[in-house]
Amino acid sequence: MGILSYNNSIIVIQNHPILRFRAKNAPPDTTPERACEPALGETLPDPPLRCAFCSHPITHPSQRIEIASSHEHTFFNPHGHLFHLGCFRQARGCITTDHQSMEFTWFKGYAWTLAGCGQCLRHLGWKFQNNADHFFALILNRMKEQKKQD
Ligand SMILES: [Zn+2]
Repeated sequence: MGILSYNNSIIVIQNHPILRFRAKNAPPDTTPERACEPALGETLPDPPLRCAFCSHPITHPSQRIEIASSHEHTFFNPHGHLFHLGCFRQARGCITTDHQSMEFTWFKGYAWTLAGCGQCLRHLGWKFQNNADHFFALILNRMKEQKKQD
């Protein structure tokens, strides 16, 4: 099984050598914009969208965008898994793989990389990019819109 397979298994992305390398060697990026958390004293109109597994802030409702005239898209991958995706301009709580692929791309002209939670590394979606543009297509039921439990 290729490391950049569309397979949505958690195991695949956790064993991805690039992600593991980054997770082990990169210092945690805790700058406010990267972490999607408001800076001290800053208020955001909505709480961030968080990883459904570990509550890490992933993106923000204000980052919702329309691609091909729609924010939400539903696609089957080549393995027959159905994904209900939302498009976001930025998802600073995600980490992405380095290798880009045009194989089976869902958005014409865009190459994709896997996007995972920056904290628990679970697969949350894909980053799509071409020379001029990029966006994230994130699996909506793997995120939750709620404040962190205290
Ligand atoms: Zn997570």
